[in-house]
Amino acid sequence: MSSGGFGGGGPPQGSPPYPPTAQGPWVPKTQAWDPSSQPWGAAPGGQPPGMQPPPGMQPPPGMQPGAGYRSPGLVPPSNLPETWFEVSVPSGGAQFPSRCACCNGPPTKARSISHAVKVGRTTYTRRMNIPYCATCDAEVRAGGRRGIALGALGVLAAAVFPLGLFLAWQFAPPAVTFVGAPIVALAAVFALDRLWKARPIARDRGASSGPRDAVWMLAFRPNDPFTRLAGTNEAWLRDVAAMQGVALVPQGPRKGSVGRFIVAPVVGALAVIPVFFALHGHVHFDNPSVDAVSFDIDRGLAQIDVPPGGHDDLYLPVGHTRIDAMVAGQRADRVEGDIDPFGTHVATPFGRACYATITTAYGSASVDGPRERIATPGQRWYTLDGVADVLTPSPHSVSVSNGQTGATRKRFVRVDCYTGAPLQ
Ligand SMILES: [Zn+2]
Repeated sequence: MSSGGFGGGGPPQGSPPYPPTAQGPWVPKTQAWDPSSQPWGAAPGGQPPGMQPPPGMQPPPGMQPGAGYRSPGLVPPSNLPETWFEVSVPSGGAQFPSRCACCNGPPTKARSISHAVKVGRTTYTRRMNIPYCATCDAEVRAGGRRGIALGALGVLAAAVFPLGLFLAWQFAPPAVTFVGAPIVALAAVFALDRLWKARPIARDRGASSGPRDAVWMLAFRPNDPFTRLAGTNEAWLRDVAAMQGVALVPQGPRKGSVGRFIVAPVVGALAVIPVFFALHGHVHFDNPSVDAVSFDIDRGLAQIDVPPGGHDDLYLPVGHTRIDAMVAGQRADRVEGDIDPFGTHVATPFGRACYATITTAYGSASVDGPRERIATPGQRWYTLDGVADVLTPSPHSVSVSNGQTGATRKRFVRVDCYTGAPLQ
């Protein structure tokens, strides 16, 4: 079949006649169009000759005059799922019909499609320029921006979620935040996707469908002289196949873009982590007494029971806190303190226990200064800085990053007030 490639010549010989356009919104604004001079069915200025429809051609039912370049008989119902096709073209010098790959209109733009394949340490990238009309090109780009905006709004919703939760339910367990955030992100993206409907583009004009690329590249083997192209515009791809003398392979329904939505909850779940820790401090409750102590936080807003000699911890909202240590249902002591963002604190009632910060050296590292620093005695609230292990022994070994041969690690533990020996 003789035909012009992209950018030159007329439509491929023998291809079906394309009902031409009138004042479709995809006619470039710079293009002069005088409807009075031409009956419906005539081509706009700049359209190559040979595309005039047979006399008396009527627009297909349900289509606006001029609302499609595609042969009316090939117009798929727009409620059917989008299907895609595959065709192999030479990797260099592939011939394309000089029509928009999306709507079959006159091409004024080229969209670069590419695919990268990594073999070992080498990345092979192939690129091709696909003819598009300005309107379809703009719609596909707008669709891409819309997808990014949807994802960003989903992540934003996930990041704001702990703030809202903080106001509504200050003592929500951390799990509620971390499990809730991806759900909120996903729900936000789905809701926005429903509310913010993408206008169908070339599909209404009988070619491709949504605001996604009408032609894309599939994976290839680096030594393969052919590249597999995929696309949704059957008429356009059929001509591509004919021009290359190869077969067009139908591939069935095109997968929705919903799969990309999974990015939003994943990123949302990560975004929520710093927000959560900015709103909470890690409070460790130590019970140095021989009685079971129930810590009542801010008059019943949260409660934690700690056995004699034991300890437990909670993430609590930042700000001033008042903790009542209850023994056998009676208030035995009160601890007050300020919880810092990202902070680590120890609440210990009665003020009789002693604590120390102990530094452990691993590998080739050594400790500068004293290994053990006794904390100010008699305090009920400690704010810790740079302490990795609270009320627990340090691990037997630590992992270090590349190039390092040692590390130090601090722990904050209860110690014997006379000997300074760690009790935890
Ligand atoms: Zn187009």
